[in-house]
Amino acid sequence: MAAPTKTLIEHLDFALTVDAHDTALRDASVVVEGDRIADVGPAAAVASRRAGEAYDRVIDGRMLGMTPGFVDTHVHLSEMLSRAVFPDLVNTRAWVFHWAKPFYAAVDDEDEYVSAKLCITEMLRSGTTAFLDMGAQNDPGVVLRAMAELGMRGVTGRHAADVRPTELPRGWTEEMVDHHFFPDAATALRELRATVERHGTAPNGGLARVWVNIEGKEPCSLELHVGARALAEELGVGTTYHLTTSIEEARVSERKHGMWPISRIEAAGGLGPNLVIAHCVAVADHEVETLRRHGTKVAFCPGSALKLAKGAANIGKYPEMVRAGVTVGLGTDGVSASGNMNLMRQLYVMAGMFKDARIDPEAFTAREALRAATIDGATALLWDQEIGSLEVGKKADFVLFDLDHIEWTPFHDPLQALVFSASSASIAETWVNGVALYRDGAVQGVDERALRVESRQRAAAAVRRAGLADEGVPIKTTLYD
Ligand SMILES: [Zn+2]
Repeated sequence: MAAPTKTLIEHLDFALTVDAHDTALRDASVVVEGDRIADVGPAAAVASRRAGEAYDRVIDGRMLGMTPGFVDTHVHLSEMLSRAVFPDLVNTRAWVFHWAKPFYAAVDDEDEYVSAKLCITEMLRSGTTAFLDMGAQNDPGVVLRAMAELGMRGVTGRHAADVRPTELPRGWTEEMVDHHFFPDAATALRELRATVERHGTAPNGGLARVWVNIEGKEPCSLELHVGARALAEELGVGTTYHLTTSIEEARVSERKHGMWPISRIEAAGGLGPNLVIAHCVAVADHEVETLRRHGTKVAFCPGSALKLAKGAANIGKYPEMVRAGVTVGLGTDGVSASGNMNLMRQLYVMAGMFKDARIDPEAFTAREALRAATIDGATALLWDQEIGSLEVGKKADFVLFDLDHIEWTPFHDPLQALVFSASSASIAETWVNGVALYRDGAVQGVDERALRVESRQRAAAAVRRAGLADEGVPIKTTLYD
């Protein structure tokens, strides 16, 4: 076997390692050997440790800054063709039940494959190197194929729900309901087990992972919530679902079940360290401690909170969770919920929204926001032993920023400049597993122009099939009340 390729990136202006001490290096060097980081440190120290070593490639890092790759803890690859289709004046529940569900029902396997490639392309262009996908509408093989072709790292699964609404709303068909809902929790769990067994827990040479994911909240029974996490534990994987995504959902839960969603799942024995709760907006004070005690993780999606009026800035307990020791990662959510798949935007919003909402500059910090976007996200994905920080032995997943760019001119503190000044416009390269998947202004391994053309055509057809171009799609809902 040939020796792995060895690359030296020397004299980086900075490297924000996001290690246990949040070490920020200036004049740093990084050695990439094959798919891993073989060395990282001050340039002089790396040079003396490796005196006389030969490299296949040496990159001048003097006008570059390096951060770990961003980890997106909540995405919907299947949703990519619905950008700016649903109106921006609906709340979470109407959005899900009357817009997202008919759309999902209209997406076929080939749409999902194109959708996944499009989503990964946008992620790579904005520095995301790993993601947790809610899952394909059918078998996730199409998603795994797109991931393999682009060389992307991530977790996927199969979407599952088992509670049909009592009456079908406008735009829902029997066929769609049959497609979207399993008849009961046992059937859903059987199919989820088969999905993991069919693909294995770490396909694509270990770049991908397959989890036991379900939709969560009203369209899933309590039995399915609890059963998905137990099945995931049995299979040695994780699970993720949406829960307590809005104050309305918490109020419905209180009226129907006498408690808010997290307490309800806990009472049924459903919480644990292999569960990532997406959104987690409506959380009572004592439930912060409940999450910490069970090691349950949270995927916070500020962009979709802003667009769907979830109340994250108003009632969200994310700073309290972080400071209590709950792992909180950052997510974009689907493209129609947040408008984009750019985790750098979420990073910026998260760093500032709680300071402003609470009129307290210490309410949250840029440092905590960067941890949420990197190492804490990796922990949520149960992947922090290998990704999430720039440390020797970890996978070479990182972002190189072009500092000879207006966004970085001038700057003093790289952390503040990254969080509050930079955008994906100054990303020079995005590396996953030791390979520069985005460089020279293009995502490698995909014809981006052809992908855009096909995506536009497929999106228009799916919107027509879903009936979302018609008049009268509801903007309020009483479904599942
Ligand atoms: Zn979601």
